[in-house]
Amino acid sequence: MTEMQLSLINFPYRKTLSTIFQNYSNDFEFTASGIFRKIVPPLCPECGNPMIHNGFNTCKKELLGEANIGKYLCGACGKSTEEDRDFWTKLKANFFEVITEISTLLRLNHVSYEVIELIMSYLYPRDKDTIQNMVQCAINEVAVPPVKDIQFVHYDEQHPKAGRNQKYRLTLIDSVTRQVIADELFDLKDADTIEGFLRRNLDNQKQIFIVTDLYRGYSDIFKRVFGNKVTHQFCLLHLNKLIVNDFPRKTTIEQELLKYRLLNIFYNREPEIKFLSCLIEEEKTMKQRSSREYKSWIKEAKNEFHRFVRSLELKRRRENKNLEQRNYLDALNNFKCLKMESGSFMISVRKRLARIEELWPNLTAFYFIDNAPATNNPIENYYSTSLKTHRKKQLEETGIKEQMKLSALKRAGIFGRPQKTLLEAFFMFIPFLDRG
Ligand SMILES: [Zn+2]
Repeated sequence: MTEMQLSLINFPYRKTLSTIFQNYSNDFEFTASGIFRKIVPPLCPECGNPMIHNGFNTCKKELLGEANIGKYLCGACGKSTEEDRDFWTKLKANFFEVITEISTLLRLNHVSYEVIELIMSYLYPRDKDTIQNMVQCAINEVAVPPVKDIQFVHYDEQHPKAGRNQKYRLTLIDSVTRQVIADELFDLKDADTIEGFLRRNLDNQKQIFIVTDLYRGYSDIFKRVFGNKVTHQFCLLHLNKLIVNDFPRKTTIEQELLKYRLLNIFYNREPEIKFLSCLIEEEKTMKQRSSREYKSWIKEAKNEFHRFVRSLELKRRRENKNLEQRNYLDALNNFKCLKMESGSFMISVRKRLARIEELWPNLTAFYFIDNAPATNNPIENYYSTSLKTHRKKQLEETGIKEQMKLSALKRAGIFGRPQKTLLEAFFMFIPFLDRG
């Protein structure tokens, strides 16, 4: 190991220094004045004569410190060389690895690069372009283990009554073959019952993508059974049903428009929105008239709207099409617009938007796995050809690509406990701190 000439200044750091230099042979020294070099200078690479010590070069990293790397000079031919600065490069790499891991984890949780820059200004200041570069280089280097044999499964339950007894029917359907994996009746549907049912009927060693309604308890059960092998999708049609139920049965045009804007987050409802927008001004005028006049107006307006919605449905059916699924960016934008206006909405809608935000990763999981279903309606599960090309287009967006890679890494269990903390990486620099 490297011989260390300990001085009063570097004596307290002998342990750190010996860790840093542990992989170097006995030929090296770290001098009392902090120069790293060979004890006996090497032979000249040009003429083969022994060289002599000849001062040092200083390498510096802002806020972290500086190290002196020994130089050698050949007395015979004048050739000058420098000792290898590997240890310094490695120290820096270890430090920035932690910085990169922190940034990547923030990105995984949808923190913008602007905000990461702000956070980093407390830790180790870096501008957002540098951070973006670090994160993207890091995730490009990691190979995502290919997801083989992912099982796509629908889970749902019914609560039928057998005579006066409440029964619970739990069902699993294979999304690809549409075959029933299991369909069983229970007296209870507590977490243990569901857990046992899943364990008996599914392979918990395989990757699984599972679609459910928006009931809260599932995620924890899935984690217990499948660990990090599970991707949990909430059924978007179920979400849409909840949205419809957030509104009174007899809505005003204004409320109806808001309802369709919510339904428009994940599915294209632009025609309905356009239709309702045309009626909004008229409703304002009518509301100023007698309530009898308004009542008969709104009745006729709603009838007209329902006829329009029905005609769109029939057209889709004739053309054998489903409602058009939004791509990820459009869904995100639609949601953000609503969220920004949220303050002026009725309370049930404000709550619904907050819930969508909370559940966003589980509502959008299907965007990040090829051919994954977004709903629990097996009939509406298969995507039209147009949708597939839609998806390829969105892949070109770098942000989406990054998110896909990140969520793939997450599924692969790449993000575990950190190997080292930022402080541990930083302490290695203490012997080199620039005390000037
Ligand atoms: Zn020489």
